[in-house]
Amino acid sequence: MDLELKGKVAVITGGSVGIGLAVARGLASEGVNVVLCARDAARADGEARDIAKTFGVKALAIGADVSKADDVARVVAETEKQCGGADILINNAGTGSNEKIMDAPDEKWQYYWDLHVMAAIRMSRGLIPSMRRRGGGVILNNASICAKQPMDYEPIYNVTKAALVMFSKCLSNEVVKDNIRVNCINPGLVLTPDWKKTARQLTAESGGDWQGYLDDIARRNAPIGRFASPEELADFFVFMCSDRASYCVGSTYFVDGGWLNVIV
Ligand code: NDP
Repeated sequence: MDLELKGKVAVITGGSVGIGLAVARGLASEGVNVVLCARDAARADGEARDIAKTFGVKALAIGADVSKADDVARVVAETEKQCGGADILINNAGTGSNEKIMDAPDEKWQYYWDLHVMAAIRMSRGLIPSMRRRGGGVILNNASICAKQPMDYEPIYNVTKAALVMFSKCLSNEVVKDNIRVNCINPGLVLTPDWKKTARQLTAESGGDWQGYLDDIARRNAPIGRFASPEELADFFVFMCSDRASYCVGSTYFVDGGWLNVIV
């Protein structure tokens, strides 16, 4: 299936590893020029170089903390300068939390609000003018199944990801007239390097069966009985970026191996 994405420009926050990197590589394999942003500029730069070499597209890395307004402004300005704007924005940067509501300080709530919600708002506000100029665009917000079905150890993650889902819907209503499609994706268990690292750490003193530990999590939670690979999830993102998904507007899609326990 030709997704007709060749020559487009995509900005992917958190594009240096895990899901964001898989999405960047998936888009690049369709001929999309990519801008990766992450705090660790060296890692992002290494991945951008590899993408450019492997897929023959333009790939740019920008070191930026997207929870900060100034850094987001820099990403927008640099994208404008080096690529003439963007057609696709993937708001993906994010991370899990671990706390009890009664103990967590305001600063922690603020950081996750800035990372999961304000980053998406600021990136969208910054790049939508160039999408309008270029005739339209696609924005995908990567939330989580936890936005709908909370995990008890990470209330701040659950709450801020739920806010991202609602932001996605409201933005969609506002910009669909500009031929900009905004959608949200709620993944379930996705086997990123970070999950493997955590599993290795947690099983180090009990025999090191990190794979068994992860298999057990998957069996207990997802009816499919396994994690998704980042590439498996990225395929859905790439499809959603293409005109083949032209009637997909303002929705939230679960890609979770059947984990969501209610119908929506
Ligand atoms: P990873 O931890 O593997 O990667 C996170 C990426 O985001 C990295 O590129 C990281 O780079 C970047 N990042 C983190 N904080 C910031 C910041 N403040 N500014 C800029 N970049 C940042 O995460 P995953 O691939 O697992 O997750 C990606 C998204 O998917 C997240 O939003 C997560 O909540 C969501 N998700 C993940 C699931 C999973 O099972 N893996 C399930 C459901 C949702 P750097 O550290 O250099 O900044």
